Amino acid sequence: MQSLNKIVVDLSALRHNFQLLQKRSGNGCRLLAMVKADAYGHGMKEAAKVFSEAGCWDFGVAEVGEGVRLRESGVRGNIFVFLGCLRSHVPLFFEYKLIPVIFCMESAQALSDEAVNQGTIIPVHVKVDCGMNRLGVFPDSLPEFLSAMKQLPGIKVAGVASHFPQTDDRASSQTKEQFRVFDKLGLNTITRHIANSGGILYFPQTHCDMVRAGISLYGYYPDGHLGVDFETGALLRPAMEFHSRVLQVKTVPKNSGVSYGHTYITKRETQLAVLPVGYEDGLSRSLSNKGEVLIRGQRAKIRGRICMNLCMVDVTHIDGVQAGDTVVIMGSKHNATISGDEIAGWMGSISYEVLCLFGNNNERKYI
Ligand SMILES: *Cc1c(COP(=O)(O)O)cnc(C)c1O
Repeated sequence: MQSLNKIVVDLSALRHNFQLLQKRSGNGCRLLAMVKADAYGHGMKEAAKVFSEAGCWDFGVAEVGEGVRLRESGVRGNIFVFLGCLRSHVPLFFEYKLIPVIFCMESAQALSDEAVNQGTIIPVHVKVDCGMNRLGVFPDSLPEFLSAMKQLPGIKVAGVASHFPQTDDRASSQTKEQFRVFDKLGLNTITRHIANSGGILYFPQTHCDMVRAGISLYGYYPDGHLGVDFETGALLRPAMEFHSRVLQVKTVPKNSGVSYGHTYITKRETQLAVLPVGYEDGLSRSLSNKGEVLIRGQRAKIRGRICMNLCMVDVTHIDGVQAGDTVVIMGSKHNATISGDEIAGWMGSISYEVLCLFGNNNERKYI
C-alpha cells in the first residue's frame, strides 16, 4: 500500500484509444476489449469500466476465473473466455453468463449436458485455426465439428473466431491468405471475428462483425515505434506510466565496480542514484547495463546488475539530483519520453510484456 514505486494509469487515454479504434473499425463492427492479464497490467476492473462507459459491450479474457472476476466487478455485456471450457468449470459459465470459445467436442458435450440440466441454452463461439497453429479446429474438420454440435441440445453456435499470427507486419501476405481461408468458411449468419490490433489498424478488409483489440487499447502499436512513425491520423495514447524515486545519491571514484558481479566499472568519478526498483517490480534483469530512466527530465543509464529490489543509475551529468526526486521508469517528463516500445527493444521483447511486467507487479494509481 505504501510502495516507493507506482504505476499511473490515465483513464482518459484508455477512453481516447477505445473511441479511436471504434472509428477505425467502422460502423456496425463491434469492438471487443481484450482485458486479459489484468487488462495488460492496467487493472481489468478499472479498464473494463472505462470501456463500458464508452459503449463497449464485448470483453475478452483468457481463463474462466478472470471472467468470473470481471462479472463480479459489475460489468454488463458479453464476456468471452478464449481458453475454452473444462468440464469442472462448466457451472461457472452458466452462473456468470460467460461465453466459452471452444475447440473440442468434450467441452461442447459438457456444456450441452449442463444446459439440458438447467433447461436453458448456452451460446458458444467456435475457434478455428486458419494458420496460427495454436488453439482451434482446422478448417477441414469444421463442417464435421459443427454438424456434431448441431446434434447437441442446449448449445447454440453464435459465432466463429480465428486469430492472426502476423498482422503486426503491414505487408504480410500470410494475413491475406489466412483471411481468404477464414472468409471461405462462409458462416455469414453468425458473428465472425478474426482481427486483433494489427488487423484493425492495418488490414481493414478483415474486420468482419467484430474485432478484438488488445495492445492498441492500451496505447501501443503492434509493430512498436514503426506504428507511431507511419501513423497518419490521430495517435493512440499510452495509458501507463511507471514512477519511482531516488533513495540515495552517492559519488564513487573511478574504477569502482557497481552492483552484484561488478559487471560495470566506473570510467571516471561517478555520481550514482540508487533506486528502489528491481526485477521483483518488473524491471527485468535483462535491462542491466542497458536500460535508461528519466530524472529531472534527463536520461540516466542503469549501471551494473539490476537487483531484486534495487538498481543504480548514472546521474553524473544531471545537476542537483537528491534523494526523493521522482524517477520515470516509463513515461514522459518535460520533453523526454521513455516508451514501452523502447524498453521492450532493450529487453529484446515487445511492449505487451513490458506492460504486464510493470502493471501487474506494482501498485496502481488512476488519474
Ligand atoms: C490477446 C488476444 C487478442 C488481442 O491481440 P492484440 O495484438 O493485443 O490486439 C486478440 N485475440 C485473441 C484470441 C487474443 O488472445
